[in-house]
Amino acid sequence: MASSKRDQKVVKPRSVCLSDVQHQSRAQRLIQQALSSDRLPHAYIFHGPDGVGKEMFAHSVAKLLLCESPKLGEGDSPTKDSCGTCRSCVLVDAGNHPDLHLVYRQLAASHPDSAVRGRKALDLGVDVIRHFVIDAVGLRPTVGPVKVFIIREADKITPQAQNALLKTLEEPPDTTFLILLASASDRLLATTRSRCQMVGFASLPSEFVAQRLAELVDGLDAKTAELLAILAQGSLGRAVLYAQDGFAESFDEVATMLAGLDRVSALKYSKRIVEMAKESADRYKKRDKNLSDAAARRVALGDILGAMAAWYGSYLHAAAGRPHPFESRRDGIDQETAAQSIDAISDAEFRLAQNAHAPLCIDGLMFELASV
Ligand SMILES: [Zn+2]
Repeated sequence: MASSKRDQKVVKPRSVCLSDVQHQSRAQRLIQQALSSDRLPHAYIFHGPDGVGKEMFAHSVAKLLLCESPKLGEGDSPTKDSCGTCRSCVLVDAGNHPDLHLVYRQLAASHPDSAVRGRKALDLGVDVIRHFVIDAVGLRPTVGPVKVFIIREADKITPQAQNALLKTLEEPPDTTFLILLASASDRLLATTRSRCQMVGFASLPSEFVAQRLAELVDGLDAKTAELLAILAQGSLGRAVLYAQDGFAESFDEVATMLAGLDRVSALKYSKRIVEMAKESADRYKKRDKNLSDAAARRVALGDILGAMAAWYGSYLHAAAGRPHPFESRRDGIDQETAAQSIDAISDAEFRLAQNAHAPLCIDGLMFELASV
């Protein structure tokens, strides 16, 4: 397989202010309302799909809270934003403001206790939460009047660590703000959720994802950007990963297999799909050393099944008269059989999520798709 497009260079996004975050008007409105009433809750949960701007938005909120001279917009309901030029703003943009604490599971590797450092950081355990959040909340801000904690993958905070964090979430010092980022907020305990203001984030429009992707990834052509945006289903973060991993090539291979799929080739293609998932899982694990084999394989297979569903989905797009960046062609597939095939793919995804044996599950799926 060609590997020329793998490891594509991503241009680092410039620093952002609140007003730069697009297509999250609900979150914008909630924050601006709280800011204008001067009653900003001290603990937030930003929840929604990965890669739609939750962390970027949290950073821009933190930048505003830390800003030395915030600016006020004009009009009837003026919006507040960071100035972007004061010492504090510059420190936040450079990623080294001492009062902005970014907390993530891999911080376990910097924990003072060697036993914690030695463990694989699959989740956010109580030791990390205690050291990097609870103890740090008790300290005074270094530069300005407040400090802000942003906790990535908060849905991976263990129940024990959540219990330890409850008191901090309930009564943080006036000088402290906590923003928890979660893609699956239902995995957080009800007691955690009830102590935080919930702010939901939505998937991004695929035209917007395609446009931003082309800006962020060096040398990516518009058609590939459009394809990756569709495959990423409204997540810019995932689209960027797909571009880096050359996922458009994987999609082409999947599309070729599906176009030539019959009962004779089903088993051969199934083997190849499992192999592709393994290659992709290895890339995920290279990127995140703390990812378990099972989790990496699940994500990788999910990507490929998503690509398969998108291939069949293009029949439905075409039937609805909507443009699509790729054309699916196989004799005998119509709207109805495309919809049935997508259902079969969803069933396989469900079985894999229940820890079904992956090769057997994909064998079964390919036979089913060949028979439709
Ligand atoms: Zn500023």
